[in-house]
Amino acid sequence: MPRPQLQYLTDELQQLEQKGLRTKLRVLRGEQLPVAEFDGRRVINLSSNNYLGLCTHPRLREAALAATRALGVGSGAVRTISGTMAIHMELEEHIARFKHTEASVVFQSGFTANSGTVGAIMGRSDFIVSDALNHASIIDGARLSRATIKVFPHKDCNAAEAILQELAPQPGRKLLITDGVFSMDGDIAPLPELAGLAEKYGAVMMVDDAHASGVLGKNGRGTVDHFGLHGRVDVQVGTLSKAIGALGGYVAGGANLIEFLHLRGRPFLFSTSHPPSVAASCLEAFKVLEEEPERIERLWSNTRFFKQGLKKLGFDTGMSETPITPIMIGDGRRTMEFSRAVFQAGVFATGIAYPTVPEGKARLRTIVTATHTEAELSEALAILERVGKAQGLI
Ligand SMILES: *Cc1c(COP(=O)(O)O)cnc(C)c1O
Repeated sequence: MPRPQLQYLTDELQQLEQKGLRTKLRVLRGEQLPVAEFDGRRVINLSSNNYLGLCTHPRLREAALAATRALGVGSGAVRTISGTMAIHMELEEHIARFKHTEASVVFQSGFTANSGTVGAIMGRSDFIVSDALNHASIIDGARLSRATIKVFPHKDCNAAEAILQELAPQPGRKLLITDGVFSMDGDIAPLPELAGLAEKYGAVMMVDDAHASGVLGKNGRGTVDHFGLHGRVDVQVGTLSKAIGALGGYVAGGANLIEFLHLRGRPFLFSTSHPPSVAASCLEAFKVLEEEPERIERLWSNTRFFKQGLKKLGFDTGMSETPITPIMIGDGRRTMEFSRAVFQAGVFATGIAYPTVPEGKARLRTIVTATHTEAELSEALAILERVGKAQGLI
């Protein structure tokens, strides 16, 4: 029996159940592969961010094992006490070179990289100008900073400019911030226009490249490289948890920015650093990005193949321009029913509803990887067609 103090949680769970939104965790047995066993069922996996298959790459696996043997399983402290190991520094120097920035700093996750950075570089008298579909970690960082938050409609540069113009007489600092690739819609930010606005109005420009790291730009350098904007974006966040295959987040930028985060980034100061195995896997991943560019090519050819297939079937794929392709449904309950039925038929595509996306914008989210075969993607399309027709969606 739950204690009466927590009865309200039981009530809220029941409300979610009535809306068909009380979803359960899917449990993966074995490795994160393009065809994998979830909840005891073999399914084509369209739900992982393992874009390049690096979660199980032999070179990363060996690097993790070697680092564990040589250095142990834990770092033993936060970075600012005694938890900065040589391998952490080596990874950060490698990332800075890769991103063509002066320096970089690694956080425990992409989430803490965003929340820790926004929370540190902005303060109570400042202003954060943020895309409506920015990731939760940006929103949390903005709240932690206590700055005034101004949200502009998704990718609407005119609206962003109107806000910056209105704020121009205010003495506070301004931060213009956007996801590079939007995680639920798979569209790309209008970064050249936003960087131009940031310059025009003297705002700090920050991009969260979680879904662009390893996906967009030369060898997966991200949206700044994709658009040729080197030197024009002050703060670049990337994740090490998606295409890079392990865990973590980083900030790449100027040396002063990075030094400031060493001194003021709260997750950096107050939470223990990565085990050496994680740093070693990430280091190896960046080498793989440069030495096996065919992985990124394969990711994009699979993306084109699958997206065209979905469109041909008559599905609405929204605004997607990347390997993240939503199948727009609208109603939350119908979306979850579709996702469940598709899963029973052999395809794992996550249903996403409120509060992750706005009410009425529920969708199935599909993500292809470099390691899916065309036969697997064709089979997935056939299953989506069969179930989609049975449920009257196409
Ligand atoms: C996944 C994601 C993050 C968080 O990255 P983690 O490394 O998983 O913590 C941040 N921003 C965006 C846009 C994401 O999709």
